[in-house]
Amino acid sequence: MRPGSSVTILCVNCDKPFGSEGHKEAMKDLASNEYAKQLRRALFYQDSVHQFESKAHFDNCDFDGATAYVDTLLNEAEQQVLVAQAGKAKKDTVAMVAAGEKAFFSIGQALHAVQDFYAHSNYIEMTKDTVKDATDIAVIPFWTPEGNAALRKLQQNGLVSGFVFWGIPQLCPAGAQSHADLAKDSEDTKSGKVRVAHLENLSQYRLAIVAARQASSDFLRYSFKRWPLLDELNGKYVAFEVLVDRRGL
Ligand SMILES: [Zn+2]
Repeated sequence: MRPGSSVTILCVNCDKPFGSEGHKEAMKDLASNEYAKQLRRALFYQDSVHQFESKAHFDNCDFDGATAYVDTLLNEAEQQVLVAQAGKAKKDTVAMVAAGEKAFFSIGQALHAVQDFYAHSNYIEMTKDTVKDATDIAVIPFWTPEGNAALRKLQQNGLVSGFVFWGIPQLCPAGAQSHADLAKDSEDTKSGKVRVAHLENLSQYRLAIVAARQASSDFLRYSFKRWPLLDELNGKYVAFEVLVDRRGL
């Protein structure tokens, strides 16, 4: 993690907005929380162990590969939740915790792709002129059938991601923009530094952050709702990085 990068603390399934009391409670929870630690570990793991796989980062126009990969990771999480549930039923805390941690790791791996979508595709460029506020840029929940359909429609309308020479497979049309030109992982990239006048002059990097943060929140709420045991094990609060420039360009 680079110095100065911020950690987003999210309260999943909370009714009230995040206040200062909540913050204290969250920090206490997180200090001893192995589950959130696995989630964060997985976010970084993807840029080292899986750096050559286009699907892990929405690179090289491998949209179908990326959504299939997210599905696979969610299935892995589900298998681990089943093991954790069996452990809980048998009062085998060790088995329950170990499986719970693995489930969070798989979810963290998927979360990486969820965030990268906004930084590595031209989705922000495609939508910025259609909204009046940065928070109006819609999240594409490609972990659901509806979201998958929305992603396919976007592909028909010109959605691309950047060409990465070290990533496999490479599915962009010839002459596609390079990852270095298109990526919005930081405010220093060609596309990341572009300011958008009608959206409070925010940079495209900031817009990608806003969308990725909302997508992360939606994705974790979805996961906790699908597997209430994760909520029970972890508690309401999770902390993680959003679009840190994890691998450089
Ligand atoms: Zn990535």
